[in-house]
Amino acid sequence: RDVAELDARITVCRACPRLVEWRETVATQGRRASFADQPYWGRPGPGFGDAEAEVLVVGLAPAANGTNRTGRMFTGDRSGDWLYAALHRAGYANQPTSLASGDGLELRGLRIIAAVRCAPPANKPTTAEKVACAHWLDRDLELAAPRLRSVLALGSIAWDATLGSARRLGWDVPRPKPRFGHEAEAVLTTTDGRGVRLVGSYHVSQQNTFTGKLTQTMLDAAIARLGQD
Ligand code: SF4
Repeated sequence: RDVAELDARITVCRACPRLVEWRETVATQGRRASFADQPYWGRPGPGFGDAEAEVLVVGLAPAANGTNRTGRMFTGDRSGDWLYAALHRAGYANQPTSLASGDGLELRGLRIIAAVRCAPPANKPTTAEKVACAHWLDRDLELAAPRLRSVLALGSIAWDATLGSARRLGWDVPRPKPRFGHEAEAVLTTTDGRGVRLVGSYHVSQQNTFTGKLTQTMLDAAIARLGQD
């Protein structure tokens, strides 16, 4: 199996009734006025980026009028503006903006996924929804494992989800459980004995970027750790 097949399977998942209803209701009746004339994706968000990535970025979940509209991770909202600008500064993205599919954006060596693949009401998935979606993250980590060097977890939910997937895959995870924080780090060891650096970053949500909890300098510093040996 490859990431293209995985992404195709993710986009037809209907395992969470509440999220299926929310993603489709937003897409058909709840569009933001400024996007009213646009078609909405209204499905789970597939991964985006380099299929041979050595670096994974794990977000929380699609935004109702962002990925749920455009069908591409972190595309079409302010969070994405922050993330892609930073990835461009670090050399992972060929351009600093992510507007919509077909805009020419390409990622080199990096793939973006999420702990939960459907937009949740108020950006808050339930515990059951996080559990239900975890197997997709397992598969992404499993496929990436042979070449994976590092994972950037955007927020504590992505951090915990990544640790959970690593454990289920039989990777060695430090004990006690590594605590999330901005620029927190933990080394996970795959079943092949390869070390994978897990780096934490505050999420690029407007709640953090508008208030200054996360600055560009802070985000750049976390991303810089991904390429370190
Ligand atoms: Fe499927 Fe994940 Fe969406 Fe639930 S959140 S319906 S498990 S893709």
